[in-house]
Amino acid sequence: MTTVRTALVIGGGIAGPVTAMALRRAGIEATVHEAYPPAADGGVTLTLAPNGLAALRCVDAEQAVRGVGLPMRRTVVTDGRGGRIGAFPHVAVEPVTLGLWRDDLARVLRERAQAQGVRIGYDKRLVDAEQSHDGVLARFADGSTATADVLIGADGIRSRVRTLIDPQAPEPQVLPLLNLGGAARYAVPDADPEAMYFVFGSRAFFGYWVQPDGRTAWFANVPDRQPVSYAEANQIPRQQWLRRLRAVFADDVPARQVLAHTDPEDLVAIGSIESMPPVPRWHAGRMVLVGDAVHAPSPSSGQGASLAVESAVQLSRCLRDFPEVPAAFAAYERLRRARVEKVVRRGRQTTSTKTAGPIATRMMRIMMPLALRTFLNPERTLGPEQRYRIDWETTVATELAGRPSRVDR
Ligand SMILES: Cc1cc2nc3c(=O)[nH]c(=O)nc-3n(C[C@H](O)[C@H](O)[C@H](O)COP(=O)(O)OP(=O)(O)OC[C@H]3O[C@@H](n4cnc5c(N)ncnc54)[C@H](O)[C@@H]3O)c2cc1C
Repeated sequence: MTTVRTALVIGGGIAGPVTAMALRRAGIEATVHEAYPPAADGGVTLTLAPNGLAALRCVDAEQAVRGVGLPMRRTVVTDGRGGRIGAFPHVAVEPVTLGLWRDDLARVLRERAQAQGVRIGYDKRLVDAEQSHDGVLARFADGSTATADVLIGADGIRSRVRTLIDPQAPEPQVLPLLNLGGAARYAVPDADPEAMYFVFGSRAFFGYWVQPDGRTAWFANVPDRQPVSYAEANQIPRQQWLRRLRAVFADDVPARQVLAHTDPEDLVAIGSIESMPPVPRWHAGRMVLVGDAVHAPSPSSGQGASLAVESAVQLSRCLRDFPEVPAAFAAYERLRRARVEKVVRRGRQTTSTKTAGPIATRMMRIMMPLALRTFLNPERTLGPEQRYRIDWETTVATELAGRPSRVDR
């Protein structure tokens, strides 16, 4: 039984609200402190994998999230001339992958958290924290402070809590691909509404799916060795990004048409894709990390949000089950480290396929049908990731002892 009664959760993105809901279920009162006002999320697409959706069941948020997502049952891969390279059904598992807007996901999770009694403070940027033997004091940029038994850093890939835990903590690794996304006032003709489309264009990679409202949600990954931060990407006018993308995809269908029907205000420039290398210290004293702060895979993994949700639930189970904070945090790291680092490695490999040149794309076209039946078979590559399930009722000690449980690691 835990001795922890209260928690400060820093960050109100994806991991933050889920951590707070799961902690409440574990009998711990949690308050979320988010740096920005409520409407500051970016309008980018993401997918929530079956494992992430299943984890949301533990905090009674799965149905609400399904309400803002579209089921994605297969992926179709084409080249820029519209030639089909391959198509594969997603892993045969329920619930199916959802395609959704990140801001919808964040909004719904915050609403669910608040409906369950979680308090969320906005414009609360953590700048510092002090630990004592029985608690943590957090200092915010507005001069206010808050105290609790533990502090949980759900503050994303540029985590402040990570550097408070370990000033030598690694920085995110920048990958040589720019990431942009948006919505077009155009539905790609004859597109399957339950398919994600991946286009290996002549110069860059383009992904999209059609929406019931007649729009197309899209993202583009453009090879570029020059690192561009989110802030730098947003100093460049959106019209300029759109011009660049229209030039990059000038020879590729249907990217050319989708971009022609995208207004600058519906484009989001994210900058270079980033991925977290292994973080040596996940916790120190009464502070611990969750989500992108400790295990951000590249967006190509399709697992960032899902892993964040899983870790939020698993950390809460550990705090529920262990009387002492160090034992709870150590158990959490044992439950999670190997799994998340494996996904991060896969994400980096997937990202590298998007920088393939025209020759590699031609080879892929030849090899893909065979590869999908053998070493790239989604059941084999993604099945174990997506079949991971958390059993809230099982004690963590039982799970770690490897006794029979429903957990697939
Ligand atoms: C373009 C793109 C596409 C993606 N596609 C996918 C996908 O298909 N599938 C998938 O699962 N994942 C995807 N991801 C990753 C996914 O968005 C992240 O993994 C997920 O948002 C992680 O959640 P988080 O809560 O840990 O971090 P975040 O969502 O980044 O939330 C962190 C929060 O902390 C706040 N914060 C930061 N610093 C402070 C501070 N000092 N004090 C207080 N608050 C602070 C931030 O404002 C933010 O709200 C994608 C990411 C990007 C950028």
